[in-house]
Amino acid sequence: MKQVILGKTGIEVKRLGFGGIPIQRVSEEQAIDAVLYAVEKGMDFIDTSRMYTTSETRIGKALSQTAKKPVIATKSFGRTADDIRKDVEISLRELQRDVIDIYQCHSINTVEDYRKITAKDGAYAGLVKAREEGLIRHIGITSHSLDILATALDDDLFETIMVCFSFLEPAAKEKVIPKALAKNVGILVMKPLSGGVIEAPEPALKWALGYPETLVLAGVESRDLIDQNWSIFQGNWELTESDREAIKAISLQYDKKFCRRCDYCLPCPSEIPIQFVLGARTFLKRMGPGGLKVPIFTSLWDKAENCTECGQCATRCPYGLPIPELIKANVEWRKGLDI
Ligand code: SF4
Ligand code: SF4
Repeated sequence: MKQVILGKTGIEVKRLGFGGIPIQRVSEEQAIDAVLYAVEKGMDFIDTSRMYTTSETRIGKALSQTAKKPVIATKSFGRTADDIRKDVEISLRELQRDVIDIYQCHSINTVEDYRKITAKDGAYAGLVKAREEGLIRHIGITSHSLDILATALDDDLFETIMVCFSFLEPAAKEKVIPKALAKNVGILVMKPLSGGVIEAPEPALKWALGYPETLVLAGVESRDLIDQNWSIFQGNWELTESDREAIKAISLQYDKKFCRRCDYCLPCPSEIPIQFVLGARTFLKRMGPGGLKVPIFTSLWDKAENCTECGQCATRCPYGLPIPELIKANVEWRKGLDI
């Protein structure tokens, strides 16, 4: 139960993995220490991305100092075969590996992006070639959109999917997880604490681990956090009465504030990527100052400022979020940042 086989990849790992986003926001010394501490403790899966600024480099430096060989997954925003090929080569160099276990197409959230990566000269073809050449072992996809993941599963192209799954965002358990299991596709769970929104790790991790056959990735950057999560992982995952109460209270607190990334509010006539604007604060919290330079973050605001407050989106949000109001608040918050 504490191990999982990631579908057709055949990779068997512990069900709690190391999420490589937050190590960007600490010093290199602390980041390397965190990676080494985690793998020495027994964590055997590390996820990172080309997009996470220094994360791959720091993981590579840390792993060069230990005989442990955790499974490594990384990902790229490259949408064409050429672009992702360049990123595979950079990832290999930064991670100091001859081969990367799982290479993922990162953040495929729109039909347009999905079409691009699955085109003849798209990123997927680039990864198939890299796999044939022995540079990577398996190909995965990550997305905030359950519809895109469902399509990817129908198309039988990918060996793993990465999906948002927490008690604030449980929809994947109906829409995507059963399909992935039926197709024998490995399931990587991202954001078990809803990207840092949930500040109660024990109920959140127990809730996520309570759904079998998934690998849960939790971002960590310090020994304390690793100890905390590892002790939850090693303990009993059954929710206690106080866990249930915490889940109920947090769910209530965020009911009309938390964006579940379902995209039902789209399309927006001003082409605002609503879920990214609403999630921008927690994104930056996890990424640290490096996040200010990430294109997906910097490109949001010009569009967000064009919100006409027409309210069309709000009528489509199944959670009743006051979207125009939340967008306005985030635009104001962003104006106060030094970017
Ligand atoms: S209120 Fe703003 S975000 Fe919503 S649909 Fe209208 S322009 Fe787009
Ligand atoms: S604002 Fe509402 S409809 Fe839009 S992505 Fe978030 S939860 Fe879904």
